[in-house]
Amino acid sequence: MSSATETTKRVVVAAPRGYCAGVDRAVVTVEKALDLYGPPVYVRKQIVHNKHVVETLEARGAIFVEELESVPEGATVVFSAHGVSPAVHAEAAERSLKTIDATCPLVTKVHHEAKRFASQGTQILLIGHAGHEEVEGTMGEAPEQTTLVQTPDDVDSLEIPEGTNLAWLSQTTLSVDETMETVGRLRKKFPLLMDPPSDDICYATQNRQLAVKQIAGGGCDLMIVVGSQNSSNSVRLVEVALEAGAKASYRVDNASEIDEAWLEGVESVGVTSGASVPDDLVQGVLDYLQSKGFPAAVEERLTEETLQFALPPELRKDLRRSA
Ligand code: SF4
Repeated sequence: MSSATETTKRVVVAAPRGYCAGVDRAVVTVEKALDLYGPPVYVRKQIVHNKHVVETLEARGAIFVEELESVPEGATVVFSAHGVSPAVHAEAAERSLKTIDATCPLVTKVHHEAKRFASQGTQILLIGHAGHEEVEGTMGEAPEQTTLVQTPDDVDSLEIPEGTNLAWLSQTTLSVDETMETVGRLRKKFPLLMDPPSDDICYATQNRQLAVKQIAGGGCDLMIVVGSQNSSNSVRLVEVALEAGAKASYRVDNASEIDEAWLEGVESVGVTSGASVPDDLVQGVLDYLQSKGFPAAVEERLTEETLQFALPPELRKDLRRSA
């Protein structure tokens, strides 16, 4: 028989969560490349920032490398969803590598914006995190004309000559609120600052943050975010949950990383996952919570996502040829 304490417990799982269109496309690209060309297929950087996904593809014959110099001449290499700079494309061509570009089309869109602003002689203030692959790729489009702005406070120390045309762009996986704060401070300092033609923070990042806010704002003792430590959008979900009112929030790669002590005195648990996380890892967390006396989860859906991207054209061409 359930005790009174148990009956008040609640688990809410956010939707949308997990795979976005860009991650799905990138993972399927590597899978199809392995089927079509046979292993090994080289992948520059982690195809998406998820440990489990990378290990699963490695087991099928994908070889993840940090730089192209580790790829043998003439081999096939897939570029990750985060995008690469023109210098990486040039290096691949020089080394006669066969490339398949799995850059998310929404990242490619930001590259196009950077190229366009740069060609007009505009200086770009790129809001993003230093060292993130997406930022390295986008900055590579116009390195001389791009300045990285990592936090709202960075704005104070920016020194830009008067009369410079300025535009801002951003990484696709940032906190919407923090980015808007940075943009507000930039605009105050540079009133003629130009905006990107459309949102750079992608639909998937925005939806996952809004879904978390809805749950955390409704009262939530603990928000568990499934995602890897190097997944920018997953890390942002923890911050968003705390800012929206969750009493505690932790990121885990999978259920085995949950510390039972986090559940002490907890009545309501929210669960979500970053855009690179397969849903079986979320299911593992829900099963764990049930094994600790929590009820089955109720899904709280913010919106439906129906966006899908076609596979990279170079892969589609080879698939058609082999059919
Ligand atoms: Fe593309 Fe956004 Fe997914 Fe990144 S998180 S792969 S930008 S849809």
